[in-house]
Amino acid sequence: MTGFETLRLDGVTRRFGGADALAGLDLEIRRGEFIALLGPSGCGKSTALNCLAGLLPLSGGSIWRDGTRLDTLPPERRGFGMVFQNYALFPHMSVRKNVSFGLRMRGLPRAEIRRRTDDAIRLVHLEEHAGKLPGQLSGGQQQRVAIARAVVVEPSLVLMDEPLSNLDAKLRLEMRTEIRRLHQNLGLTTVYVTHDQEEALSMADRLVVLRAGRVQQIGSPEEVHTRPANRHVADFLGFRNLLPGALLADGEININDLGVRTKGTPVGPISDGDAIVAAIRPEDVLVRSGGVEVTVEVAAYHGREIAAEARTADGLHLHLRTSQRLAPGDKVSVVLPPDRLLVFPA
Ligand code: ATP
Repeated sequence: MTGFETLRLDGVTRRFGGADALAGLDLEIRRGEFIALLGPSGCGKSTALNCLAGLLPLSGGSIWRDGTRLDTLPPERRGFGMVFQNYALFPHMSVRKNVSFGLRMRGLPRAEIRRRTDDAIRLVHLEEHAGKLPGQLSGGQQQRVAIARAVVVEPSLVLMDEPLSNLDAKLRLEMRTEIRRLHQNLGLTTVYVTHDQEEALSMADRLVVLRAGRVQQIGSPEEVHTRPANRHVADFLGFRNLLPGALLADGEININDLGVRTKGTPVGPISDGDAIVAAIRPEDVLVRSGGVEVTVEVAAYHGREIAAEARTADGLHLHLRTSQRLAPGDKVSVVLPPDRLLVFPA
């Protein structure tokens, strides 16, 4: 294993034709970190991962492991493990042979291969399936084989590209915890690509939010969740209410069609009179007296909560999420708490 203290991406750029799939990614990954690359389809997540892995040459920039330049090395000399969405197992090899593959390639002594293979298989709870072929396993079991195969060689960095996207909802939840546990127990450093914000928030130490090949924000799950850097990150992170308006004097804002002035929390440079977008999550809109009158138009049952769409008298459309049993036609009052209402430049 080639350990490192930091892995640095310096202005990493990748062009396809004339278009930048990745435009100048700067990122420092510390040993032991779990980094999630998060963003909508086509934002450049896989491109970033493949550049890191050495599967795609860079169009510009460089990658460094401590003081050593890495982007000029072929993939097999970077010492990284990879786990893909489609598992990419060898279909004619048993679980045991799949997992031990990397160790056999390295020509290690047989006793060591056996011991480390057993450990890895135990780690992902596949002891009972060690003799089976991949085709005899469920999707979740196959993905665990892929993970065991990647970690058995103790890679300095594990790269995962949407590894859970082919699994059903229940398994996806279980595997989130399992991958996070493996990361911790094995002291791995992990870079994990996903378009699922909940997955990223619940698994990663730090998130890198990408949009159209550019970094929008790098931060802890809490930072990104509570203080998205701009309206695009807010939009992607579940601020479903993006309400156009203007900043007035004294921090007051006028949201078009809301019918009252309110206050919000400014994010980024804005001056009085500027056009703004006020962002708030559906679950942060309070259904409470003393606020703005709205009429419920749509209400959908979500177990403990109702997801509703409502409209003010002036026509402003709001998404709500509340434990109150709202139904279409209900007239209720809603409050937008200023500390939950983020104000971005338009
Ligand atoms: P997804 O979640 O859909 O996989 P992504 O965020 O991983 O998306 P990338 O696969 O990195 O996005 O693609 C980024 C951009 O680069 C996209 O616009 C894509 O069309 C383009 N692109 C990616 N690979 C190639 C390629 N081999 N040739 C041409 N364009 C490509």
